[in-house]
Amino acid sequence: MNYRNTWAEINIAAIKHNIRQLKGILPNGHKAMIVVKANGYGHGSVQVAQAAVEEGIDFLVVALLEEAVTLRQAGIHTPILVIGRVAPQYAHVAARHNITLTVFDLAWINVVEQEQLNNPLSIHLEFETGMNRTGIRTKEQLTEIVHAVKRQKQLNITGAYMHFATADEIGTEQYDAQKNHYETMLQKLVKLYPDQLITHIGNSAAGIQYPEEMLHYTRFGVATYGLYPSKAIKALETVELEQALSLYSELIQVKQIKAGDAVSYGATYRAEADEWIGTIPIGYADGWRRKLQNFHVLINGKKMPIVGRICMDVMMVKLDQPYEVGQQVTLIGTDYKQTIRMDDVAEYLETINYEIPCMLTDRIPRYYV
Ligand SMILES: *Cc1c(COP(=O)(O)O)cnc(C)c1O
Repeated sequence: MNYRNTWAEINIAAIKHNIRQLKGILPNGHKAMIVVKANGYGHGSVQVAQAAVEEGIDFLVVALLEEAVTLRQAGIHTPILVIGRVAPQYAHVAARHNITLTVFDLAWINVVEQEQLNNPLSIHLEFETGMNRTGIRTKEQLTEIVHAVKRQKQLNITGAYMHFATADEIGTEQYDAQKNHYETMLQKLVKLYPDQLITHIGNSAAGIQYPEEMLHYTRFGVATYGLYPSKAIKALETVELEQALSLYSELIQVKQIKAGDAVSYGATYRAEADEWIGTIPIGYADGWRRKLQNFHVLINGKKMPIVGRICMDVMMVKLDQPYEVGQQVTLIGTDYKQTIRMDDVAEYLETINYEIPCMLTDRIPRYYV
């Protein structure tokens, strides 16, 4: 049910192209996991997961159990890892849907031991190696956890992983330290639990910078969507990524205002001369943040500045000439020879490109091409 004239277009061919690029840099036999947390970084987790599976991807990653269940309900049977901590009382939900959970604390295992799971639950152990977010910190903790898992039949350790804090910078000492720490912990785990384990350490940045050093899998998130994790990683020029999301709207009113007339709340903008003003139906409730005042949109390949405060549902731009109502406006994407990249919006908002597709709320319909 979409009646509005503001929409995001998701180019599935671009996502597939990016996945092929990323798989292409990994050594033979090494695989890519595709991270579709946060509704596929705002692109639509089900559609992205389906595209990934069509490209031969055999492991998906999400942050929440809800996100994993959404994929299962959409008929996606591929293995899924939840990287966020799921409270132990919901372990049975994961077991029922054959979803792999992340574990890093003994208390979690002790709670699950008291529960009756309908089928065995697969878990990946997360190691803390320098990010100081979540993870098993010491060999002693690891030993306790493995012993607790061995005591019961409901849990199987099927994998182990870690997360880098500085992989988007080139050649940091922290990267090496984290990797070494992981290897020590992994050796200990393999001694305690010699079953077949899959192991994975890298995100997009690590995978692009050090493809040879990634283990069984690399967890590609942002790069899947055609965004580089940082300028430094982009400058390596080892993968050619294509931005998958474009954002469009159209003019719903065009008018001429007189010199001195003000636009929008607070009258923060006043026309210096007689000016054409266009109204576009997107605002901060769509995630088009108020801070984007004075940024620009594209009309017929030309930049038009956003003038006055951005409202909840609409904003105004200064036009170089009168356009028809219904004229298409590009907020993110390419229009003739001009492109507004996710990176441009991120830079204007003094944030990272990751945040831009995630900030677009679900009031904006996503169409797939
Ligand atoms: C989000 C996340 C990823 C994906 O990171 P990108 O930089 O988007 O590739 C991988 N691993 C973990 C643990 C994450 O939280």
